[in-house]
Amino acid sequence: MTETISADAVIVGGGVLGVATAERLAARKRSVVLIERSEIAGGATGISGGLVRCSETVPEYRPWARSGFHIYLRRGWRGRWPAVREAGSLRLFASRHLQEAIDQVSLVHKAALPAMLLDSSEMRRRFPTLLVPHGVVAVYEPQAGWLPAAELTTAMLAEATPATTILPRSRVVELLTAGDRIAGVRTADGVTVKAPTVLLAAGLASAELAAQVGVRLPLANRRIGYCLFQARGVDLNTLPTVVDTRSGGWLRPWDRHTVLAGTRSSAAGADTINHSVSAAEIDRVRSSWSDCYPELAVARVVGGVTGYDAFSESPGAVQAWPDPQGLVTAVGWNGSGFKLAPALGDYAASLMSGLIG
Ligand SMILES: Cc1cc2nc3c(=O)[nH]c(=O)nc-3n(C[C@H](O)[C@H](O)[C@H](O)COP(=O)(O)OP(=O)(O)OC[C@H]3O[C@@H](n4cnc5c(N)ncnc54)[C@H](O)[C@@H]3O)c2cc1C
Repeated sequence: MTETISADAVIVGGGVLGVATAERLAARKRSVVLIERSEIAGGATGISGGLVRCSETVPEYRPWARSGFHIYLRRGWRGRWPAVREAGSLRLFASRHLQEAIDQVSLVHKAALPAMLLDSSEMRRRFPTLLVPHGVVAVYEPQAGWLPAAELTTAMLAEATPATTILPRSRVVELLTAGDRIAGVRTADGVTVKAPTVLLAAGLASAELAAQVGVRLPLANRRIGYCLFQARGVDLNTLPTVVDTRSGGWLRPWDRHTVLAGTRSSAAGADTINHSVSAAEIDRVRSSWSDCYPELAVARVVGGVTGYDAFSESPGAVQAWPDPQGLVTAVGWNGSGFKLAPALGDYAASLMSGLIG
């Protein structure tokens, strides 16, 4: 197929970042071509745990987390996205990091949202499923929780159309330039899309494309996965989302009988998604919850997933490049991109709109 399409903007990558940006460009009356090599939400987004909250440890992400969470709470820009499952969010800290926990509570208060500091006795009283040991404190955000990430992305996409033309199962292989400006992209199946601005929101694959025009994105892939544990005899209606900053463990209720639990990994991962988890990974997840949720050590594993997210040493960022002018990149979220996406998408769209003229 040889075809040429013209648009105001091209977005490479149909994950939550690309789709959030398309929706915001469409709201600014810009025509967009969104190109995705597999399906919409076919990468990290589709398997994301979808945990969302206001508090954030990485200073550079704080404004995006705050504003992203507010957008999620009001169900998007038009009130039509799926509602946040307000299971509550607990972030556990060793008590030697009490000051950091206190600072996080005040950050949430500054965003005009409720948050409180809980000690282990209070956590056991409120959340009987969790056996949080003494010497652990938590930042508790009652309005936070989780969202079904793929469903949310589909709802965003519905608001991006008809201003957005979607090219699924189409891989971008070349960035086109004219002098010192970006001019569009070419796909593996021979489609040329001409546009004055291009967003690379294609995870790790963005690095190879950016390198074609002399832009270096120092990205790696980081493995992230989770297990689904069958929790017998406990009431998961009271289980909040939990992130344990001590062990790197994170979990959320999956349904009334199942807990989704994962743990931090520093392993590199292949750019693929497997709907299975290795025995070694199951052991790692179990041991990261050994003190707070010992029942997971014996709970039956009924599913899981092993995937990846693009990782960068310095925090991920949305960047407009001076050379070639018109190129914008949004990559390197390292396990945090979903909660930041609505705010980052709005920012990327404002940068791109300025480049369209
Ligand atoms: C298991 C797991 C759990 C997570 N849990 C959370 C969480 O609880 N909360 C949170 O905030 N974040 C979480 N994250 C992180 C979050 O999901 C990601 O940071 C976010 O989804 C990244 O979105 P993205 O759009 O940048 O990338 P992706 O979703 O990876 O989208 C990039 C897209 O680009 C496409 N693509 C690549 N190359 C090309 C090409 N050449 N041409 C066209 N298309 C291309 C890919 O197919 C892909 O669909 C988790 C991630 C994983 C893997």
